[in-house]
This record gives sequence, structure tokens and C-alpha cells, in this order.
Amino acid sequence: MARQFCQQCEKVTEHKEIVKQKPSKYGSSKMEQFKAFLEGFFGGTASAVGASLDLVDRYVECEKCQLRTLENHGEEFQ
Ligand SMILES: [Zn+2]
Repeated sequence: MARQFCQQCEKVTEHKEIVKQKPSKYGSSKMEQFKAFLEGFFGGTASAVGASLDLVDRYVECEKCQLRTLENHGEEFQ
């Protein structure tokens, strides 16, 4: 739970964090995801971390109005 500004409420409200898995470019089967993981793993530790971060979207949802705001932090790791 995090307090932050909600654009719709126009004030600081309680927000909860939601993490949703993105549809992968490697396909949705377990094997395809495993291959994607290995590809990242052998490309170096940093890119493996980057690849796994790439697979999820992070949102915060306002407790008052349920407005969801996309909050990806992936670019910080590049
Ligand atoms: Zn709100």
C-alpha cells in the first residue's frame, strides 16, 4: 500500500500495487517462456533480470476510484 497522488481524485489517496503478466513475445506456453528465460540467462545476468522485468506490467490502483496508473520502472535498469 502506498500513498500517492491520484489524478482522478485530484488528491493523495491510498494505492495498491498490481502486477500483471504481459503477453510474451515468445508465446504463452511454459516451454516458450523457459526458452526466453534461458536466452536471457546466457546473454548475461543483467539482461536476464531485464528480460524478467519485461514480462510484467506494474500498476498502482487508487483505493477510492480504482483508477489504474501504469508504473513500470524497467527503464531504470537499462
Ligand atoms: Zn482516485
